[in-house]
Formats: sequence, C-alpha cells, structure tokens
Amino acid sequence: MKRFFRLLSAALMLAALPACSALPAGLHAEREHYPLGCPDNLFMRRFLPLKMQMPGKKRSKIGHLARLFNAAGAFSGAKSTRKSNCPDTLGRSSVHIVRYCTDTPEPGILFYHPHENETTAKKTTAAALAERGKGCLLALEHRASRRIVIESANSRADFDPNRIYTEAGRRATLARSRAGTDAENTTAAFARYLLTHHLNPQRIIIAVHNNSNGGTDIRSYLSGMLGHGSAEVYINPARDPDDYFFTTDRRAFSFFKARGFNIVRQNSLTVHDDGSLSVYAARHGIGYINVEAEHGHRAAQTEMLYAVFEYLAEP
Ligand SMILES: [Zn+2]
Repeated sequence: MKRFFRLLSAALMLAALPACSALPAGLHAEREHYPLGCPDNLFMRRFLPLKMQMPGKKRSKIGHLARLFNAAGAFSGAKSTRKSNCPDTLGRSSVHIVRYCTDTPEPGILFYHPHENETTAKKTTAAALAERGKGCLLALEHRASRRIVIESANSRADFDPNRIYTEAGRRATLARSRAGTDAENTTAAFARYLLTHHLNPQRIIIAVHNNSNGGTDIRSYLSGMLGHGSAEVYINPARDPDDYFFTTDRRAFSFFKARGFNIVRQNSLTVHDDGSLSVYAARHGIGYINVEAEHGHRAAQTEMLYAVFEYLAEP
C-alpha cells in the first residue's frame, strides 16, 4: 500500500507540473505510457474493477489515474524489480503516446505525428495549432527514431509505426527484423491500442510527415507502384516536388489543387496494402490528409497546415 501512495503522490505532482518549457505557449501535453498493463498497471489492476480495465471502454477517472501512474513511472526513473513477460516499460522499450492539445477541443479531427525523427513536421504543427488555438496533435515518442522497438523476454518487435494498421503491413514491416509470432502479436496489440483509443474515433486524420530530397516526391506518384495506387495527381511546377499533400478524399484534392499545392489522391481500390494509415483510413471511412514536406521546409509545411485549417473550417 505504501507503494500505492508513493505512486499516487508522484502522479499528482506530475499532474501539477507546468507543460514542458519547449512547448509553444497555449499547448499542454497529456502522456500515455505504452504498453499499459506492464508493470505498474499490473499493480493498479488490484484496485480497478474489471470493466475499467477493458480496452476500448471509455476513459474513467480511475483509468486516467492509471495513465498518470504510468507516466509518473516513465519520468521518475523508478526501477521495477517485478519479473514478468511484459516489455520493459521503464526502459528503452517504452513508447509515449502524447497528445499536445490547445484548450479548445476539435472533436473528430486529429493531427498525427507517427515518425519521431521527422522533427520539422512536429514543430511546425505544434506551433501552428498553438497559434490557431484549437485542436490536438498526437505524437509517438520513442527513441527519436522512425521505427519503434518493443522488446520483451520472448520477442523483439521492430516496426515502422506507419505500416502496422493491416496484417499484411505488419508482416512486411516486421520481416526486416525477422521477427516471429510473438512480435507480430505485440505489434498488432500496439496498432489496436492506437486505433481504439485515438484513431478510430476520428472523422478526419491529418498526418504530418517529412521526407528527404531525392527520395519519394510528388512525381513518384505518376508511375510504377505508387502511380498504380494513385487516382489523381496535381503538380505545380513552381513548388518543390518534396512538398505535397496526399489524401484519400476527392473534396480535399480539389480544395488544395485549386490553391496551387502539389497533391495526390489515393486510389483506394488499387493501392498496395502496405499497412499505412491512408490504406486503413480509406477502408474504414475515415478522412485522411497527409501534409508531407521536406525536412527543414518549415515555411512550406506551415503554409500547408494553414491551408488545412481553412479546409477544416469549410462547412
Ligand atoms: Zn513519416
């Protein structure tokens, strides 16, 4: 019981702390520490009625407390001596799922930053949302890397968090690290958690990404496999080909094209199932817009984000 109160006071202290000083004014951060259920949450389970532990249930005050507990553990540096098959949640396997929110919610709309190494996208989106004073950015934070690694006693799941939303995608992204069934299950559980708690409830998801000069750009969607999965491509030669929108939505395509932005619309019937969120979103009736810009193109990405705000303001 002493441990309970120690964790409780740590959680309350954490809740009382001001937002990280690096955050733009007007944003606050809510952190979840994935995976929940290991190991601090095992302790919490003794105190929670079963129905509050069911994944997918609406959040309760106690569930929120459990998340604070996990967050407290993540930042206190506390070491658990508990032996379990859970991934090492207090060590390098931990993933933080962080919501950076303004004080004004925007129900059904979520900005999403899955690749932590794409720092331009995160900074510009946080700054633009703070200035706009409305909406939330969901970010995955792990090792400042593109890929996420969740290790347990039995497996090592090493995956691209934008390739995990279908079974085919998970198999392909895990193949690179020759992972087995346990790693597939770990990855599927992580995807399910993100979908259930954060992504499925949305009407529109605005993903924010960065790319490198010389890699995939707007012209890549004119031919080959990417061309096969594209329904429409609009290229404005005056713009950098690395700065472009990618959407599943006809109305969004017309809107951004009319404003002179590079844009691709996915052909959701022919697109290769690589497990990315655009494929999942199209299959499940969730609107999807990706704001893709080259690393370091802060002005271009900011301009694109403000165009998204205009798009969202349309009836
Ligand atoms: Zn990315």
